[in-house]
Amino acid sequence: MLYEEARKALLKCVLRLYQKGLVQLNSGNVSVRVSDEHLVITPTGISYDDMSEEDLVIIDLNGGPVEGKHKPSSETPMHTTVYKNIHEVKAIAHTHSPFALAFATVGRSIPVISTEGLAVRGPIPVADYACPGTEAQGWAAIKAMKGPPYVMGTLLKNHGVLVTGANLSHAYSIACRIEMAAKVFFLALQIGEPDILTDDQIKEIRTAYLRK
Ligand SMILES: [Zn+2]
Repeated sequence: MLYEEARKALLKCVLRLYQKGLVQLNSGNVSVRVSDEHLVITPTGISYDDMSEEDLVIIDLNGGPVEGKHKPSSETPMHTTVYKNIHEVKAIAHTHSPFALAFATVGRSIPVISTEGLAVRGPIPVADYACPGTEAQGWAAIKAMKGPPYVMGTLLKNHGVLVTGANLSHAYSIACRIEMAAKVFFLALQIGEPDILTDDQIKEIRTAYLRK
């Protein structure tokens, strides 16, 4: 079996997302770049309760099959489009986490109102609508993330969330922080109009964090 370590890490990441409620049943998908040519990605149609390392699929950057007994995720075109066009991306997680998805349905980006937002490097944008399962969905996400500022993740209009990372743990933590940022923004809007951190305040927080 090719890329055993990567399979292990990917399954761990997807199960953590599942346990956190950021993906459910067989919604969402995760992948990791394992070489210049290959990715490991979750299969389509297998629920997380039953998923094992052998169920994960190896594909090339054009989505062609390399190894695996299942079909790769239906969102493969979105993943491959992002990997081919943003070379520093090493891992991608796509979730339908509920608070973030709620903002994606109304097309409202999530401003930086607490330190959660800083993990993404700026306000969490909303990508233009594109049909799920298409390359167009990948291009919409790229356009939204490129900003400026360049951010690590985006809401996908009427669909969910796409996050990128330098590795799987990084992508996992950004997926968690985006959902937390969306939840806090939602709760704050029930009480009043939250104050948005200014660029100067963000810069100051970053400097304080970097000092530690
Ligand atoms: Zn989806």
